[in-house]
Amino acid sequence: MVEHLLAKEKVAGSIPVSRSPSRRRRQVVRHGSAKAVFSGSNPLVASISRRGIGHVSSYFLENLIPNYIHLGCLPMGQPHSYSAEAIVLKHSDLGEADRIVTLFTPYKGKVRAVAKGTRRPISKKAGHLELLCYSRLHIAQGRNLDIITQAQSIESYIHLRNQLWPMTCGFYLAELVDRFIEDDAQHLDVYNLLLQTLRILDSHAQEIQQRRTQGIADGVLSYDRTQLLLRYFEIYLLSFIGYEPVLRTCAHCKAELQPRENGFNPSLGGALCPDCSHLWSQALSTNALKILRLLQRTEWSLIPHFRFDGSLRAEVEAATHSLLRFHLERDLKSWSFLEMLATKR
Ligand SMILES: [Zn+2]
Repeated sequence: MVEHLLAKEKVAGSIPVSRSPSRRRRQVVRHGSAKAVFSGSNPLVASISRRGIGHVSSYFLENLIPNYIHLGCLPMGQPHSYSAEAIVLKHSDLGEADRIVTLFTPYKGKVRAVAKGTRRPISKKAGHLELLCYSRLHIAQGRNLDIITQAQSIESYIHLRNQLWPMTCGFYLAELVDRFIEDDAQHLDVYNLLLQTLRILDSHAQEIQQRRTQGIADGVLSYDRTQLLLRYFEIYLLSFIGYEPVLRTCAHCKAELQPRENGFNPSLGGALCPDCSHLWSQALSTNALKILRLLQRTEWSLIPHFRFDGSLRAEVEAATHSLLRFHLERDLKSWSFLEMLATKR
């Protein structure tokens, strides 16, 4: 230990003590943090030789660590670039050829970064930064916004992109995440939920495509299934960010809900019993409540395939959308487009 410290001291011994703090800070950055700890005169060596090796650790606590903090250094050093997997949530134009890309990463959460030149036709990165692309990126830390220096798609959801309905559903999921998740806050559970749901949507789209090539008409069942998947995503998203819908007991009086017509109020957080009907903002049928509960407590792969008629579908959708609207205090852009596509079917 002592030899190691002395070796470090010798390396850094060339930095004069008399330099100004700013000069010393520049030196620290250039030589790296390990050397910076041992820079300056020889108080450590003097202390060790005077008081013995047992004082090394207390010397660290009393002298070196405060100096470290004073110099503004972090013990591990701050990286200037990083690699990350990310799902592309949103684009916006910047200047003539660049884009600001909103990314959803597993460990840094939602990040906005500049993708230079991606609006030029010759851009190599553009295809890997399309909306909903799941890509591996290399990102340089910038003064204001980070800059994407490399991009390579891992999954691009080709089937989903080739069809309007699944693609619009995918864009809707991205809009939901973008609206609900704050910048730079880790949400690994939401990230995994989005990734899994995009994969399911892509496989639905592939099934639809295969049926079409075989001359089999689009099944209503697959449309119902996709609608159910959107509700599933909405309920889990709300739960992961702390707004889990109350569906087992009355959201007002806490009485257990019975299989009969109940009500719903988003401002109270969920379903309401008949005794609290003065607080209902919509009625909720037994079947609608059953579907909501099933989605809330069941893994997607275990949810059975079933048909539900238009009015029941609308009832379930109204309940989850009212919760989303209440928390966001606005409608989502995708809703009107999804509704338009739904009515055309
Ligand atoms: Zn009640």
